[in-house]
Amino acid sequence: MVTKGEFVKYSAKWLILFTVLVIAPLLLASIGHGESNRGFWVEFGVALGFVGLAMMGLQFVLTARYSKIGAPFGLDELLQFHGQAGYIAWGFIMGHFIILFAADSEFHKFLDPFVNFPRALALSGVILAITILVATTYWREKFGIIYEWWRATHGALALIVVFVGTVHIMQVGFYISELWQQIVWVGFSLAAMGLLLHNRVWRPMKMKEKPWKVTKVEEEVEDTWTVEFEPVGHEGIEFSAGQFVWITIGDSPFSLQQHPFTISSSPDEENIQLTIKELGDFTSTIGEIEPGTGAYIEGPYGNFILSQSASTHNIFIIGGIGVTPTLSILKSLRDRQDQRKTTVIYGTKSQELTPFYEEFKTISEELNVNMVHVFEEPPKGWEGETGFIDEGVMKRNIPEDFTNCEFFVCGPPPMMDVVEMTLSEWGVPVYKIHSERFNIA
Ligand SMILES: Cc1cc2nc3c(=O)[nH]c(=O)nc-3n(C[C@H](O)[C@H](O)[C@H](O)COP(=O)(O)OP(=O)(O)OC[C@H]3O[C@@H](n4cnc5c(N)ncnc54)[C@H](O)[C@@H]3O)c2cc1C
Repeated sequence: MVTKGEFVKYSAKWLILFTVLVIAPLLLASIGHGESNRGFWVEFGVALGFVGLAMMGLQFVLTARYSKIGAPFGLDELLQFHGQAGYIAWGFIMGHFIILFAADSEFHKFLDPFVNFPRALALSGVILAITILVATTYWREKFGIIYEWWRATHGALALIVVFVGTVHIMQVGFYISELWQQIVWVGFSLAAMGLLLHNRVWRPMKMKEKPWKVTKVEEEVEDTWTVEFEPVGHEGIEFSAGQFVWITIGDSPFSLQQHPFTISSSPDEENIQLTIKELGDFTSTIGEIEPGTGAYIEGPYGNFILSQSASTHNIFIIGGIGVTPTLSILKSLRDRQDQRKTTVIYGTKSQELTPFYEEFKTISEELNVNMVHVFEEPPKGWEGETGFIDEGVMKRNIPEDFTNCEFFVCGPPPMMDVVEMTLSEWGVPVYKIHSERFNIA
C-alpha cells in the first residue's frame, strides 16, 4: 500500500538520486581542475557535454525494465521521463558542440577531417546519431517507421552516442587525466551499455529456458481475442492482478517482435490469458495463431495493482481494451471473495462490442461492485450513461466526498487525458491516481 508520505519520500529520493548521478561526472572531472582558467564559456560548454553524456548513460538504466527502478511509478511514467530526459540530453550535447565551437576556434579541429579524419567522423557521427535518435522518436508515426525497427535502431544509436562520447572524453583527457578517473568513467559507461545487452541478450537467453505454448485462441468481440498460454516444463510466473508481460509468439526470444500485453486472467488461475485488440501488423495476426504455437513471456511488470491503493473505495475508469487490467483485478477479487467497495466506469462503442459484458455482470452481482457502462451507441431503451466518459459521467458516478477513493485509469489516450485532468482539477492528489497507458512509445 502506498501512502502519501511514502509516495512523496520515494519521489524525492528518486529525483535526488537521478540528479546526483547526472552531475557526478562533473564532480569527478573537477577533481584536480579546480584552478582551470579556460574561460567561463569553455568550462560551461564542457560541463554540458559531461552532463549530457551522463544523462544518455542513465537512459539505459531507465529502460532496463527493472521493476524496482520505477516503483511506485508506472512504466508509462518512467518512459515518459525517459523521453523528456532524452530531449534534454540532446540539448546538452548539442549545446556542448555549439558553445565550444563559438567560444574558441581551437575547437574547430575536432570536426575537421583534415586534422584527424577518424575523430571528425566519429564526432560528426555522434551529432547525427543523437539527432536521428530524437527526431525518429518525436516523429516516428509521422515518418511511418515500424515500431520494431525504431526500437532496434533506438538502442543501437544510443550505444553509439555513449561509446563515442566515452572514447572522446578519454582522448581529450583534459579533465579525466588520472587513471582512477578513467577507470570510474569507463566503468560507468560499460555498466550503462551492459544494461542494454542484458536486456536484449541475457534476458532472452533466460526466457529460452522457460518456454510457453498457446492452448486456446477465442474471439471475445469483433477484432478482440483472448489467447491462453500454458507453461511448458516449468511453473509459470507469479504476478499481481493488473500487471503486464512482454510476449513473443511463434518466434525466437531474441525476436524484435516482442509486445506488451496485460494479463486478463486471475493470478489464481493455472494458465495465463491475454486479451488482445487488433491494431497493427502484429495484433492483426492474433486470430490466426494455432493452439500449440510456442511463445516466450517476459515479466511481470507494472504497478497498476490494487496493493498500490490505501483507500477503502477503488474506482476504475476504463475504456476499450484498457479493460484488461481491471478484469484481472476483479477476477482476483472474486477468487478471494473480497467484498471491498469498487466502482467500474467502462466506456465502449456499444453493448455488442463490449468485451466481457456478461462476465462483468456476474462479477458485479457477486461482489460489492457498482458497474457503470458508458456506450457511445447505446442499445434501444438504454437508460444508463451514453457518449464518452467525461466530467459529467464522472460526477454522476463518483461520490461527492472522494477522500476515501483511489482511482485507476486505463483506456484510449483522449479518455485518459480527460479523466486525469478532471481528477486533478477536483484536487485528487497524484498518488491516488494510478494510470496505465498502452501507447508508451
Ligand atoms: C503496458 C501495456 C499494456 C498493454 N496491454 C494491452 C492489452 O492488454 N491488450 C491489447 O490489446 N493491447 C495492449 N497494449 C498495447 C499493445 O502492446 C499494442 O497494441 C501492440 O503492441 C501493437 O502492436 P502492432 O504491431 O499490432 O501495432 P503497430 O501498428 O505496430 O503499433 C501500434 C502502436 O502500438 C505500440 N507498439 C507497437 N509495438 C510495440 C512494442 N513491441 N512494444 C511497445 N509498444 C508497441 C506503439 O505505440 C505503436 O505506435 C499494451 C501496451 C502497453 C504499453
